[in-house]
Amino acid sequence: MPTDNTKACPVCGKLARPDARPFCSPRCRAVDLGRWLGETYAVPGKPETAEEQDVE
Ligand SMILES: [Zn+2]
Repeated sequence: MPTDNTKACPVCGKLARPDARPFCSPRCRAVDLGRWLGETYAVPGKPETAEEQDVE
């Protein structure tokens, strides 16, 4: 398992790339960003740390 220094992309689950961490690609980063802006619209500037995304 090549999971020593790499994490799974939170968007699609593929292995993250060093140049796009924690995502596997700039595209997934954009997807996650858009999702974030949508889901945390009511909580600006306050990252949610106790959500289902907090699986690392
Ligand atoms: Zn991805």
